[in-house]
Amino acid sequence: MAAQRVAEDVAKGTKQTSRVRVAVRLRPYMHKQDQKGEGACVRRLDTETLEIINWRNATETLQYQFDVFHGEETTQQEVFLSSVKPILPHLLKGQNASVLAYGPTGAGKTHTMLGSQEQPGVIPRAVRGVFNLVKAKEREDEGWDYSIGMSYLEIYNEKVLDLLSPSAQDLPIREDKDRNILIPGLTHTPLSSFSNFHSHFIPASLNRTTASTKLNQRSSRSHAILLIKVVRTQRNPPHRQQTGKLYLVDLAGSEDNRRTGNQGIRLKESGAINLSLFTLSKVVDSLNAGGGGRVPYRDSKLTRLLQDSLGGSSHSVMITNIAPEYTYYFDTFTALNFAAKSKQIVNKPFVRETVTVPSVQVKRSRKEQEAGLSGEPQKK
Ligand code: ADP
Ligand code: MG
Repeated sequence: MAAQRVAEDVAKGTKQTSRVRVAVRLRPYMHKQDQKGEGACVRRLDTETLEIINWRNATETLQYQFDVFHGEETTQQEVFLSSVKPILPHLLKGQNASVLAYGPTGAGKTHTMLGSQEQPGVIPRAVRGVFNLVKAKEREDEGWDYSIGMSYLEIYNEKVLDLLSPSAQDLPIREDKDRNILIPGLTHTPLSSFSNFHSHFIPASLNRTTASTKLNQRSSRSHAILLIKVVRTQRNPPHRQQTGKLYLVDLAGSEDNRRTGNQGIRLKESGAINLSLFTLSKVVDSLNAGGGGRVPYRDSKLTRLLQDSLGGSSHSVMITNIAPEYTYYFDTFTALNFAAKSKQIVNKPFVRETVTVPSVQVKRSRKEQEAGLSGEPQKK
């Protein structure tokens, strides 16, 4: 019986859902005065693969493969369409999902999740998408009513703080008899429209704990977690009800705090950040290994909170953000090792594209670049 169920799940493709899809996004090179045009230390090879210089051995590059690799030219819309939009319909069927932005400070997590007015990110696009799906469903699915609501919280120093009601203290995380994770006392705000969402979300974003570190002036030291809840209720008896939860998470920076000169309170924060990100990596590894062993959700607040939305029948994607500049090299390397499905060492030096390459050759076609000619100075 169980075996048959597994076979059906595999046939329907639902067996895959406990995996966390891993996407990597490379932000564009941002030339700063003090970097003297060193060029990038990482670049795209194809839609799943990138290469990075091997600092241990300059005659080699390291190639990493992911479920998807978004190169620096990737737009906000493309990231949304490929990594987020496909999971939204599951919310209306009472399933859970999560989208997490991971990576060092300055690599583009907030750009990916929040974006700007001109280039809105995953959060506004996903919320709009949920409203559109619900509107369409209400027309065709007559026996059911839908409602949408939000909560917004952050985890800072292993404390759960309500961003919609900032005076509240550390909130407890509980699990009900059906194994749903809940936070008693957390503000839940019903939403009537996208603009209604906007009016609650923007002021609450300003409540986030940010502090300056040596590395970045407004480095995020907390995990910001937006929860969008879709409740579907049967109009007639027995009034069945299903809840789908979508977590949209802008994680704290993954940089190594030994390098950022953190002391005192900053060092305590770093300890908490490291604990939760390290636990998150163990949870993702354990889910993706698929061995059915113990998943260490309880080892940090972040993973405990996401327990019913990461793994199981949930739909999760982690977008690892990386930066191409040499100053980020070690953080990029760490982030890639966290995210990679596979890594390969290739005997081929990483040749810098910016050095003495005539402009004609820099503008070679994508096909040629993908054929492995990328950046190799050609003698003529
Ligand atoms: P993080 O949240 O990881 O610290 P940010 O999202 O704040 O990083 O990004 C750092 C800077 O880089 C910001 O000025 C942001 O606008 C810019 N940036 C990040 N990703 C991109 C991108 N894909 N395209 C253009 N600018 C980007
Ligand atoms: Mg940020």
